[in-house]
Amino acid sequence: MAEPRHTRVLIIGSGPAGYTAAVYAARANLNPILVQGLQPGGQLSITTDVENYPGFKEPIQGPWLMEQMQGQAERYGTEVLFDVVTDIDLKATPFTAVTDGGAVVKADTVVLATGAVARWLGLPSERHFMGAGVSACATCDGFFFKNRKVAVVGGGNTAAEEAVYLAGIAAKVTLIHRRDRLRAEDILQRRLFSNPKIEVLFDHVVEEVLGDDDPKRVTGLRLRGVKDGVERTLDADGVFIAIGHDPATELVKGQIETDDEGYVVTAPGSTRTNVAGVFAAGDVQDKTYRQAVTAAGSGCMAALEAERYLTGVQVRGW
Ligand code: FAD
Ligand code: NAP
Repeated sequence: MAEPRHTRVLIIGSGPAGYTAAVYAARANLNPILVQGLQPGGQLSITTDVENYPGFKEPIQGPWLMEQMQGQAERYGTEVLFDVVTDIDLKATPFTAVTDGGAVVKADTVVLATGAVARWLGLPSERHFMGAGVSACATCDGFFFKNRKVAVVGGGNTAAEEAVYLAGIAAKVTLIHRRDRLRAEDILQRRLFSNPKIEVLFDHVVEEVLGDDDPKRVTGLRLRGVKDGVERTLDADGVFIAIGHDPATELVKGQIETDDEGYVVTAPGSTRTNVAGVFAAGDVQDKTYRQAVTAAGSGCMAALEAERYLTGVQVRGW
C-alpha cells in the first residue's frame, strides 16, 4: 500500500455536488483531493440535453457540462483522482480513505457526494431505450414529450408527483402500478385521480418497452395483467420509471447517520452530518429535489462549511 497522503478536504464523488465543492474548496486554498468514482461526471454523464441548468440559453449536453465542471475545479487547484474509495474510517481524525488503486488519503474533512442511483425495472428493452424515451426523471425529460403520450411506472409519491407534473406537459399520462392500491399519500392521490389527463392502470406490470431503432424511439409498452394474466399494448412516446432511488451510502454504512431509506441525514439548512468534519452534499442526502443545480448548491455549502470547520468558526446546529 502507498504512503498515506494528507489533504484538508477529501471530496468523494464527481457529480455536480462534488465538483462544486471542489471549486469552492480550491478557491479557499484548501488544495482538495477529489475521487471520481466509477462514473466520472456522475449521473449527468449519461444524459444528453440538459435544459434546466442555469446560465445556458441553449440546451447543453450533460457530459460536456461535467467536463466543464471538472476543468473549473482543476483550474483552481483540485487534484482529481480517477479512482474509487473502497473503504473509509470516520471514527478517528484525520479520517482515512483507501482507494481501489491503493492510495491512502488522510483527510481533515470529508465531503461525501456519492449521489444516488435510480431503480430500474431491469428489462433489456428498458436499457435499450434509455435516453431515447425511457427516463427516471420527469423534471429533466418531461419537456421532450410536450403534447405526446407518456406512461409512468410506480405507485409511490414520486410516481404520483411525476404523473401530475407530466400531465401539465403531455397530452395523456398513464400511470401503471403493479398492485391495486397506490402507496402515494392521499393528497397526491387526490391530485392524480382528479386530473382528467391521467389514467391509472392498476394490477399491471411492464414486460417490454416497445420502439423503433431508426431513429431510436419508444412507441409503447407491452403490459401484463397481474390478476388476469392478459397481455396488453399501451401506446406511449415516453416512459418514466418512478420506482425509487438508492442513495450510494454503502461506503459509510454504520459510521454515519442515515434515514430509513439510506439517505445521509444532514442538519436542517446545512450539509453537516452527525460526524464532526464530515459533510454530505447532493443526491446522497436529498430525496426531494434530485437536480443538478440543487446538488451544486449543496456542494457549495459543504465546501464553505468544511472551510469554516477547519478554521474553527463555530457553526450553528449539531
Ligand atoms: P451524482 O451525479 O450521482 O454523482 C455521484 C458521484 O459519486 C459519481 O461521480 C460517482 O462516480 C461517485 N461515487 C459514488 N461512489 C463513490 C466511491 N465509493 N468513490 C468515489 N466516488 C464515488 N438534473 C437536472 O438538473 N437536469 C437534468 O436535465 C437532469 N437530467 C438527468 C438525466 C438522467 C439520465 C439522470 C440519471 C439524472 C438527471 N438529472 C438531471 C439529475 C442529476 O443528474 C442529479 O440530481 C445530479 O447528478 C446529482 O448530483 P450529485 O453530485 O449529487 O451525484
Ligand atoms: P417508494 O415509496 O419506495 O415507492 C416505489 C413504488 O414503486 C411502489 O409503489 C412500488 O410498488 C413500486 N415498485 C418498486 N419496485 C417495482 C418494480 N420492480 N416494478 C414495479 N413497481 C415497483 O419510492 P418513491 O415513490 O420514490 O418515494 C421514496 C421516498 O421519497 C418515500 O419515502 C416518499 O414518501 C418520499 N417522497 C416524498 C414526496 C413528497 O412528500 N412530496 C415526493 C416523492 C418522494 P409497491 O407499492 O407494490 O411496493
